[in-house]
Amino acid sequence: MKVGVPKETAADERRVALVPEIASRLAGAGIEVVAEPRAGAGASFTDDAFREAGAVLGDPWESELVAKVRKPSDEELERLRDGQLLVGFLEPLTDREGVERLASRGVIAFAMESIPRITRAQPMDALSSQATVSGYKAVIVAAERLPRFLPMLMTAAGTVAPAKVLVIGAGVAGLQAIATARRLGAVVSGFDVRPAVKEQVESLGAGFLELGVVGEEGEGGYARELTEEEQRRQQAELEARIGDFDVVVTTALVPGRPAPRLIPRSSVESMRPGSMIVDLAAEAGGNCELTRADEDVVHEGVTILGPTNLPSTMPYHASQLYARNVSALVQHLAPEGELRLDWDDEITAGACVTRKEEVPA
Ligand code: NAD
Repeated sequence: MKVGVPKETAADERRVALVPEIASRLAGAGIEVVAEPRAGAGASFTDDAFREAGAVLGDPWESELVAKVRKPSDEELERLRDGQLLVGFLEPLTDREGVERLASRGVIAFAMESIPRITRAQPMDALSSQATVSGYKAVIVAAERLPRFLPMLMTAAGTVAPAKVLVIGAGVAGLQAIATARRLGAVVSGFDVRPAVKEQVESLGAGFLELGVVGEEGEGGYARELTEEEQRRQQAELEARIGDFDVVVTTALVPGRPAPRLIPRSSVESMRPGSMIVDLAAEAGGNCELTRADEDVVHEGVTILGPTNLPSTMPYHASQLYARNVSALVQHLAPEGELRLDWDDEITAGACVTRKEEVPA
């Protein structure tokens, strides 16, 4: 089987769906990678590295399966044909129209977001691998912009107190943000509505902020949406505490829903000038009322950043991890180098977003 790897065309996208290391591993499994020239250039993977790994440089759109990071553009959609397989972040929950267009072209599309969260599918979990990058980078971005040190310093000029960092939403991204802020020496607190998280936050050496709201964990480890009363209580509790923190990283998300609004304007106004918020939920509307996606907002001296694609700013490792996820899925779909789509399989059926009618009831 051939797997095509196009150069990503979305603005500011520097990742690539497969990297040379994985191309060589796939070659060993009987799967040939056809990479578009310069496909990996944005992520520092050269054409020579692809060639040396056994990949062919050529037209990726001729392959049986096309592996992408982002959903196809209009022009890319035109290049896909009936019966061809596509793998990528296809945004099935927020871009129904895009998925329908793929279905109408007869494309058999697998969304990385739709891979079921079961143990067997963990090597394919691209949401988690990219959230790891986002959580790490959110803290690095904050550290770079913050007008103060993160660690405590004892110098001849006196002692510098460590910065206080709060991470709200301690899923994959949040836990990585907590670990990174701890490594940089900040005093870190974490909060999440899922009760199981308290222990994970504490095991990273952070304190758990008690906000008096406890939610539940649903299927796949996701949170359910809080009721209006619970949301109001969470906002009020947070508002009373948020002024203590120099950096607030928010990652709170509920799948398929707008991001919960945790930090209204009044809470921002209770923060000290020079402090900052990095809102990783910006793409879903933001956890902070003042967040504007991919813009820097400064409100009464508080900086609010809403980056929507941090993984693309660390394209080497983001691509490497994503490529491992994609290759695990590809090998699942083509176990001995030959495509064998088993619609009774939970992963194959769950990840496919365009051929539901073929799945037996
Ligand atoms: P996510 O990106 O959907 O959400 C981020 C975090 O926001 C979650 O921890 C969620 O509980 C939290 N949140 C939602 N509403 C909130 C609110 N009002 N206030 C504060 N926090 C709020 O979640 P995620 O990081 O993708 O994953 C969540 C969990 O799922 C992980 O911690 C993990 O335990 C589990 N998981 C399971 C698998 C698996 O294969 N079984 C794979 C990956 C993750």
